[in-house]
Amino acid sequence: MAESSFPKGADWARRAERVIPGGLNSFSRYLGEPYGFARSAGAHVWDFDGNRYVDYHAAFGAIVLGHNDPDVDQAVSEALNPVDLIGVGITRPEVEVAELICSVIPSADQMICCTSGSEATFHAVRLSRAVTGRRMIVKVQGGYHGWHDAVARNVISPPDLAYGMDPMSSGILSETLDSTLIAEFNDLTSLEELYSRYPDQIAAVIVEPIPHNVGALLPNPGYLEGLRKATEAQGSLLIFDEVITGFRHALGGWQEISGVTPDLTSFGKAMGNGHPIAGLAGKLEYMQQFNSAGGSVLLAGTFTGHPSSCAAAVATINKLRDAKVFERTAELGQRMRDGLTSIIAELGVPAQVRGYGSVFCLYFIEGDINGYRDLMRNDDTRYRDFHRGMTDRGFLMLPMSLKRNHVSFAHTEEDVDRTLDAAREVLKELIS
Ligand code: PLP
Repeated sequence: MAESSFPKGADWARRAERVIPGGLNSFSRYLGEPYGFARSAGAHVWDFDGNRYVDYHAAFGAIVLGHNDPDVDQAVSEALNPVDLIGVGITRPEVEVAELICSVIPSADQMICCTSGSEATFHAVRLSRAVTGRRMIVKVQGGYHGWHDAVARNVISPPDLAYGMDPMSSGILSETLDSTLIAEFNDLTSLEELYSRYPDQIAAVIVEPIPHNVGALLPNPGYLEGLRKATEAQGSLLIFDEVITGFRHALGGWQEISGVTPDLTSFGKAMGNGHPIAGLAGKLEYMQQFNSAGGSVLLAGTFTGHPSSCAAAVATINKLRDAKVFERTAELGQRMRDGLTSIIAELGVPAQVRGYGSVFCLYFIEGDINGYRDLMRNDDTRYRDFHRGMTDRGFLMLPMSLKRNHVSFAHTEEDVDRTLDAAREVLKELIS
């Protein structure tokens, strides 16, 4: 289905390069061909030249219901009539979204709206420092919590920099980088060591309950409970960064599934099915610091709580609850994981399939996978070749190895089965 009114993708890419650094609005959007997209609907996206792709990238997981979900789109357009952005006081959708969040997220007494996940984790870190009076925070190697200075280090680090100093950007003050300590996921001893090296100095431990930014490392039984116990004993806050797990694995996030209750929770991505909204929720005593009458932690932002984004979140969360989305996407995710697992066994590919619910990923790794240390054995070249083969056949996945892919409510069994046929072909080529 060619869309002749659009110049070809390469023309758009050349135009973009002239006026946008590198032609892209994020370091992590590089794909090569196709260069960009002109249309999206349900489980599919179309590039500038009209080629259709089954989409598992899902805007890094923000799309959980499918692209342009009609219920969400309708709520957004209705929200702008009768009121758009006012900038003082409140509007109805802000209150509705906060009420919903506080009713579905176990640890949420109150919430604040943000426009991105990075903003949510920024507030979480600053709030933790404010309430504890401490300087340091702990994150795990491989965890990603956004682009701001306190957390932008040690995500997908090469072996020589893993666990050492691996900032994601230049221009970050060394004092800030040094105030962020690195532990290993699924390894409570690594956290205990940091507590004994920095007694009474750690304000918070921030963790993705499943570090989906390196695929799908599942927490071992007892690990999250151990984090909860250690942070409590040491007077630090526990922050669950549920920007990916929230509204993707369960309405109440991973904390509902695990039964472990953090002090603060950041969420975003799937919350608004692709609309720019995120949030931070937590215990009343902490959240009250954001109270402009008496709190001490600054809360500001021209666009926070924008009516259309809040309406998108309300529509998304209601649909997630009412349409049994988690059950359906988990079934499709399992079909994909089972299918890939039998293909790699049948072909003898040294790889492993991991995931949970709607998420699947393919690691080109043999042996145990427990923490980041094991992920460094991944064959990145093989993943890139697999990715290119799938893209060329019309299946869009995350281009970086060690990332995950997402099934949405709009995918069908047929989409999954066609994906598996293509994967068999690509993997066969890879090993031949
Ligand atoms: N936290 C996690 C777990 C994420 O995966 C991301 C983004 O990928 C963020 C925070 C930052 O969110 P945003 O890109 O909306 O700023």
